[in-house]
Amino acid sequence: MELRIGNGYDIHRLIFGRKLFIGGIEIPFEKGLLGHSDGDCVCHSITDALLGALALANIGQFFPNEDPETNGMDSKQILKTIHEREILSRSYSIINIDSTIIAQEPKLAPHIEKMRTTLGEILNISSDCLGIKATTNEGLDSIGQGEAIACYSVCLLKKIEIKIPDKNIFTGNENFNAKL
Ligand SMILES: [Zn+2]
Repeated sequence: MELRIGNGYDIHRLIFGRKLFIGGIEIPFEKGLLGHSDGDCVCHSITDALLGALALANIGQFFPNEDPETNGMDSKQILKTIHEREILSRSYSIINIDSTIIAQEPKLAPHIEKMRTTLGEILNISSDCLGIKATTNEGLDSIGQGEAIACYSVCLLKKIEIKIPDKNIFTGNENFNAKL
């Protein structure tokens, strides 16, 4: 079985005046993630992990920041598109994904299960295969100061093997040889 591992990292600045979308869901909070899309660093880091596993270009090459078409885009759509167009189309499927969100606030623990279910549906995998954890930065650095949220993701892919059942294929040569 051919296996491929990938990792992805993303960080977005937290600012007032935007809704917070993270892990594919909206979470009530006074600030949201700044980005060309909805800024969902979980979706973006998983997308980059999937692309990285197949040594493809990063998310920015597929969804450029300057593209007006993707302005304010739902990042679940980015993840779904990359999965279908770049991963499934190359006959790879996801074995599992593991993500770690680093956020000082808000508290994400109550929302983790909904994130796993939501992203599992997007990727058509069981939530058992999609680990999401949240931790703080212990008040350190910009993330710890509540200025940004980051996410690390790893994924494991396997090549889908197409099994052709054994059968006797009559080529015509058998009869031809027999006549000789
Ligand atoms: Zn991003």
